[in-house]
Amino acid sequence: MQIIEHADLNKLCTFKIGGAARFLVNWQETSEIAEIINFAKIQGLPLFVFGGGSNLLFPDTPLNAVVIRCMTKVINLNNGDLYCDAGVRWPLMQSFCKNNHLYGLENFYGLPGTIGGAVAGNAGCHGQEIKDVLTKVDYFDITDRQFNTYIFDEADFAYRHSIFKTNPYWLITGAYFRISDQPIGDPTTFAEFRATHQPQGLTTGSFFKNPYPQHAGKLLDEAGLKGVSRGGVSLSEKHANFVINDGTGTAKDVISLTEFAKETVKIKFGIELESEVKIVTEADLLKI
Ligand SMILES: Cc1cc2nc3c(=O)[nH]c(=O)nc-3n(C[C@H](O)[C@H](O)[C@H](O)COP(=O)(O)OP(=O)(O)OC[C@H]3O[C@@H](n4cnc5c(N)ncnc54)[C@H](O)[C@@H]3O)c2cc1C
Repeated sequence: MQIIEHADLNKLCTFKIGGAARFLVNWQETSEIAEIINFAKIQGLPLFVFGGGSNLLFPDTPLNAVVIRCMTKVINLNNGDLYCDAGVRWPLMQSFCKNNHLYGLENFYGLPGTIGGAVAGNAGCHGQEIKDVLTKVDYFDITDRQFNTYIFDEADFAYRHSIFKTNPYWLITGAYFRISDQPIGDPTTFAEFRATHQPQGLTTGSFFKNPYPQHAGKLLDEAGLKGVSRGGVSLSEKHANFVINDGTGTAKDVISLTEFAKETVKIKFGIELESEVKIVTEADLLKI
């Protein structure tokens, strides 16, 4: 593991926004987690864990915490399932699957971030969600400092929700996926879809969850919010549910813009939009 004091968090997330962490710990081997928790305990600081930083907004102000960046990388076949450490990124999984003729996860190729982040948020791509392919999850329970295995239960997952969101003290260390020997989709087509339909730039993808059966992007568009900006951030002209940072934006700008967008949609359609992006506050720091 690697410990960096006063590390800039804005370099480690796709929004490129955020202040410094008192300590950043690069978590490189799963077994290091107990030592990392111990380090935080000795420092008397709370914890926050993240992966690719593609679905969160760090605050502008410093985080007086031990911020753990999950960078573990093991990937292998385990009793017919595909096992990935929580820090594995999708391109690594994609090349492993390609080299080993494994299929079933093509829909997720091109998703930014890590396996841990995708499991925690039950990420969804092209009509498939992580829960549809998940069989087990390994996690480290901070409360009793034990490694455990969670066996998948459909009832614990929902749209952009998982049991790991309700139990933030369970740090995901790895996940097991059902694979098939037949392709279920063409990764090239999905990559083209993203390039054509999604705005490029400093963003976290869709900011709001879709309020079923409506689409947040359509509601924002119909409320006349495309292109609306606050400070250095705006709602994309291409897809109104994408908040784009022009490089000068702050967390304060994002919150001001998205609160305004929420309020406008509420007044116009009577629908309460809910953030898909984790807005990190002091309340999210795990006390140990
Ligand atoms: C251009 C773009 C396109 C996107 N498209 C999609 C899409 O099609 N579908 C979709 O669902 N999402 C999409 N996203 C959002 C994002 O990429 C996914 O949600 C992704 O799975 C988040 O992974 P991450 O590692 O970046 O999570 P992070 O942003 O690092 O973390 C997100 C949350 O997960 C928690 N977390 C992360 N790792 C762990 C762990 N090991 N244990 C416990 N909790 C953990 C964090 O505490 C945080 O609350 C997109 C984002 C971008 C920038």
